[in-house]
Formats: sequence, C-alpha cells, structure tokens
Amino acid sequence: EPELSGDFATLMAWADGVRRLKVRANAETALDAKVARQFGAEGIGLCRTEHMFFDPDRIAAVREMILADDEAGRRQALAKILPMQRQDFVELFHIMEGLPVTIRLLDPPLHEFLPHSEEDVRAVAEATGLDAAKLLRRAQELHEVNPMLGHRGCRLGVSYPEIYEMQVRAIIEAACEVAAAGRPAPIPEIMHPLVAKGEEMKFLRQLTDRTAKEVIAERKAEIQYQVGTMVELPRACVRAGDLAENAEFFSFGTNDLTQTTFGISRDDSGRFLNAYIEKGIFERDPFVSLDQEGVGDLIRLAAERGRAVRPNVKLGICGEHGGDPASIQFCESVGLDYVSCSAYRVPIARLAAAQAAIGEREKDR
Ligand code: PEP
Ligand code: MG
Repeated sequence: EPELSGDFATLMAWADGVRRLKVRANAETALDAKVARQFGAEGIGLCRTEHMFFDPDRIAAVREMILADDEAGRRQALAKILPMQRQDFVELFHIMEGLPVTIRLLDPPLHEFLPHSEEDVRAVAEATGLDAAKLLRRAQELHEVNPMLGHRGCRLGVSYPEIYEMQVRAIIEAACEVAAAGRPAPIPEIMHPLVAKGEEMKFLRQLTDRTAKEVIAERKAEIQYQVGTMVELPRACVRAGDLAENAEFFSFGTNDLTQTTFGISRDDSGRFLNAYIEKGIFERDPFVSLDQEGVGDLIRLAAERGRAVRPNVKLGICGEHGGDPASIQFCESVGLDYVSCSAYRVPIARLAAAQAAIGEREKDR
C-alpha cells in the first residue's frame, strides 16, 4: 500500500504549509479513495458515478433501465440499482470521514450503456423476461451518430429525471446512514454534468432539492448538502452568472472544455496533434497541459461571472489538468479553491500548489 514517509513526508508537510489551493482526488472506488487519503487528498473532487454502473452484476439492470420504453419500466430497473448505489456512497463517506465528496450524477455517452451485440441483448432479455426483438429495436432508436455531443450528461437527467432522483436519493440516504452510525456527518456535494444553460441548472436544482428534502424528512435526519455544476462547455463559461444562480459550486471539467473549445476530440486526436506539436502550432498537448489562452480565458471569465452573482461560489477543477503543475499554476492565478486529480498525482499536486502559491506571492511584490 502506498504511504508517504521519511523525507518525502517532510517535504509534503512543508508544501502544505505554503499552499493555498486545496487538493482533492478523483475517485469512485473504495481503493482509489483510500489511496487518495494516504497521499493526502483533502476530499473527493470528482466521483464519476457512471463508472459504478459497469459492474457485471449491474450492467443488466442499467441496460434494462436505459432500454425501458416508459417511466414505469425505468423506475422498476432503478429500484434494483438504488441499494447498490447507496452502498457505494456509504463506503466512500466512511473512508472520507466528513471530508468533502463531490458526486457527479450520471454522465455516460449513452452508447457505452447500450448493448454492444445481440448476445448483450439476449442477456438483458433473459435477466428481465422482456422481449429481445423489442429491446433491440429500442437500442437502435437510441443509437447516436455523435454520442459525445448527444444524449449525455444532464441531458439524460432532463429526459429521464427518475435516474437523477434515484442517485440523489442514494446519496442522501447514504449520508443519513453514515451520520446515524455516529460517524462524521458527510456533506455531499451533488454535481450536475454538462450543464450549458441557467434553465437547465434551475430544473436540476429543483429536482435535487425536492428529492433530498423528501429523504431528509423520511429519515428525520439533519444532513447538509450542496448542489453545483460541472463547467465544461464554452456556453456555460460565458453564461456562468446564470448557472451561479442555482449552483453553489463550479468544477471545471477541462477535458470536455478543451474538447468543445477547440472542437478537437479528446479520444482520438493523437494523429494530428503530433503534427501540430512538431510544427510548433501547439507547444504541448492541450489535453495534458491546459491551454491557458483560449480555455484559460473561458475559465477566468466563468470565475468572474459566477462570482458576480454568487461571491462565495466554490471553484475547483477536476479535468486531467488538475494534476498538471503548469495548469495548477494557472488555477492558483485565477484563485480557484481546489484542484482535483487522480489519486496517484495528489503528491505532485500538493507540491505544485505550493510552488504556485510562492509564484503568486512573488508577483505581488
Ligand atoms: C471533464 O470533462 O474534464 C471531466 C472531468 O469529466 P469527464 O472526464 O468524466 O468527462
Ligand atoms: Mg466531462
């Protein structure tokens, strides 16, 4: 098991004495969360809940839910997923012991959940007793030419609110359970992905509050929670003031924000990016090191416009850039509150955050 000790631990303690930025980790499994804490993460900045849905014992229920042709069918499948999802969060909250945990509601490009073969369809049919031909037809209806720009993120929550209701319920029930067991009370941060418009945020906020209040009343518990949004689309940056009306925090999803700002695929841009780097058009891969000009300007603008509406809006970053030293320097200069990166990069981020803080102080001299 990884553990920081000796001179390395001393160095980290020095860095912690200097840095202003908090450092969190992206984690969805108990193992990642434990590693994150051993490396000094001060919370989870991104729990990607779709990763919890691929377990072999869950995928059939998830496919059943996605392929259901009405709300009743989806609710039936969601009822099977709810206890598993609640347990996921109980485990994370236990490990994180009251540190902030940002849980992002479902954000899969839908095609990842669709059956990939007729065999997959047969498996769902067998597990559910539903008609295989009908399931196949539904899968074909849901197929998209460009899933990354399609039915993903909060768009799923808008089309099928019962999915997000189930997840909010699982989060708040888990928080109640952990608090009732006498453990440090979690303060979950419920985060909505791929939001572009103020009206979307308002819809999602109402859905979240309605469901959370319902659970809190049922359990007669006193659970605090926050509602916020990923900021990962140029429109979200430009209209950040609209989002801030209903979001208590922003987390910059710089993977998608880089993709949508440049219009370059985050998944298969390698071939031409290499030529761009060779020819000096790009200094570095913008998916590794933040493009501080275009993407960075959008982040600055979003921070400014968000703060104008909600002065204490909490700001973080959870794209891959959150673990990249040059990008962390940029985050410091914008005055973000935290960076979140993969668990194994947490020590690097702690050091980089300290260096960035020193750099900013020198600028002020
Ligand atoms: C992002 O887009 O930067 C992000 C953190 O979300 P994901 O990588 O899951 O799309
Ligand atoms: Mg994203």
